Amino acid sequence: MSLCENCQRAPAQGEYAKSDRRLRLCRNCSERLNLQDDFEHLTLEVHDLAERGEHNRALGLLEGAWQEYRARDRDDWLKGAILAEEGFILERAGRLNEALEKYRSLRELGFHPSGRFGYSESLARSEYITNQIALARLVEKLYTRADAIREIESALESGQTAGDPVPNTLDALAEYARLARRVPVRYKPLLVKVSDWWGVPGPSQSPHDEVSLAAAVQEAWAARNGAAQRFAMLLQEARAPAGGGVPAKEAVELVERYIESEPVGFFRAQGEHLLDELGKGRRS
Ligand SMILES: [Zn+2]
Repeated sequence: MSLCENCQRAPAQGEYAKSDRRLRLCRNCSERLNLQDDFEHLTLEVHDLAERGEHNRALGLLEGAWQEYRARDRDDWLKGAILAEEGFILERAGRLNEALEKYRSLRELGFHPSGRFGYSESLARSEYITNQIALARLVEKLYTRADAIREIESALESGQTAGDPVPNTLDALAEYARLARRVPVRYKPLLVKVSDWWGVPGPSQSPHDEVSLAAAVQEAWAARNGAAQRFAMLLQEARAPAGGGVPAKEAVELVERYIESEPVGFFRAQGEHLLDELGKGRRS
């Protein structure tokens, strides 16, 4: 008997298929994935409403979803997803104290990898950092910068003790630099490791390194962001819709030129993937 392709614990009982995903899952995992699909479908509508400034209706939809789906929420996945959405909408609506409460509740709920679909230790740490950055921004508006810095420090301390840093550690460091101007040198190993992850050319030695990493952090952050923008533009050009788009041969050349000139390793690798994809497209 084959095991569930997600949890590898229970026997697979049926096939789950949606767009390009095809998996053999156990009952728990397929229930969870269906719940995730139902909720994610609804969040499209929630974001639409929020975009139009209809915050109360968006919050009403989330509350309705909670009532409708809560019985299916065995592992608090839905609870956490709803808290994050509510925090986001309340913040947009300017209801900052309430938004702060949501982000705090989410932190208390925790980011636990066990048993959550497609959820790994590093994804849990990454979500924790994202939530801490959101918290810090609210705390800065509602209280003081020093309070906000403490939120970022907890995000960074968790990265200090863990093995490999998760990629958005760089965003937490940049947030620290924005808030404090002086970034403690004790974070240097973290900065070096996360710069390596992104393949950002090593944090340069500046004379200020002795007292603050701020300049080096901002440099690495700007390098990553610049590369992300260049890659987004490349995607647009190389994947222009059929008809008005660039012919495949030119798209391939475009991507090849990009790979040669892109200094940031992570995005160079993304370029290689894109090249494979275009190559496949040409053959078929
Ligand atoms: Zn399973």
